[in-house]
Amino acid sequence: MQIAAVADGVFQIPVPVPMPLRWVNCYALKGPDGWTLVDTGFHDPGAEAAWREAMDRLGIRPGDVEQILVTHYHPDHLGAAGWLQAVTGAPVVRMPERDAALVPVVWDPRGEQAWNLAAFFRRHGMPAEVAAAIREHHLQHRHLVEPLPEGLTPIADGEELRIGGRRMLAYWMPGHSEGLMVFLNPEDGLCLLGDMLLMKITPNVPLWPWGLQDPLAAFLESLDRMARLPVRLGLPGHRDLIPDVPGRAREIREHHARRLEEVRALCRAAGPRGLTGWDLSRGLFGDQPSIHNQRFAMAEALAHAEHLVQRGELVREEGGETVGYRLA
Ligand SMILES: [Zn+2]
Repeated sequence: MQIAAVADGVFQIPVPVPMPLRWVNCYALKGPDGWTLVDTGFHDPGAEAAWREAMDRLGIRPGDVEQILVTHYHPDHLGAAGWLQAVTGAPVVRMPERDAALVPVVWDPRGEQAWNLAAFFRRHGMPAEVAAAIREHHLQHRHLVEPLPEGLTPIADGEELRIGGRRMLAYWMPGHSEGLMVFLNPEDGLCLLGDMLLMKITPNVPLWPWGLQDPLAAFLESLDRMARLPVRLGLPGHRDLIPDVPGRAREIREHHARRLEEVRALCRAAGPRGLTGWDLSRGLFGDQPSIHNQRFAMAEALAHAEHLVQRGELVREEGGETVGYRLA
């Protein structure tokens, strides 16, 4: 395992995840009062082994961890937090307030949201067998976040935190998740990004039945705010470090402008009969190789369609069995 020292007292730990992104970048920050661990991976044997090796090599012993910070509620970031808390005895697990509130909703032990999500996608035209596979996929992921942390402590927008000896300010940046926050040290410009910005790939902007009504509008606004922050080095949740945060934020903004143009073109081609979210997902992303990808392609297509509905460019028709979209 390659543990990289990315700044003074800041270490990047690649924790393997069983999904196309291959690993999640977790971080360990050393401070005078102990370590802060940021993001955790899924709770599976691969993540346990990676964390044990990392703690061994960095000399982190149980009792040395003052807090665990989770940037957002997605399972590859939250998953091993409960286990890590139990192993290290970390007194607190902190998470942005809106995502902390979503944890018991999305990861409820009865898996209610798995059924809710499948029904939502069915209503948007997804074939029954694909929706059923997505329901199973969600239920399986429920086990990869167990045990959930004891007593998640919420972080408020604008709050000042001590992370590894640094003063860090929390900025709410919704869109990729409802509550995602980035954490910036205004003195040295180091910024923990979670999945707010990524290199080479763009963070998924999904419409979920439990989430924001117009996640893309929120995300575009977050990109603009992100581009104005005095960041010198961005530490993302996946892939490479981001030296030029404003530049990457602008690139991702342009990417979504092009994608919205594709949605308009698909709706124009469909004419007055319109098309479903599933048609849009196929039109934008084609055949997807896995259930995982089909889930995110569908949610991303719907986020773009709903954004154009909110802007008055598309009409959402809910009269029939299936929801349709057509040009206004
Ligand atoms: Zn994420």
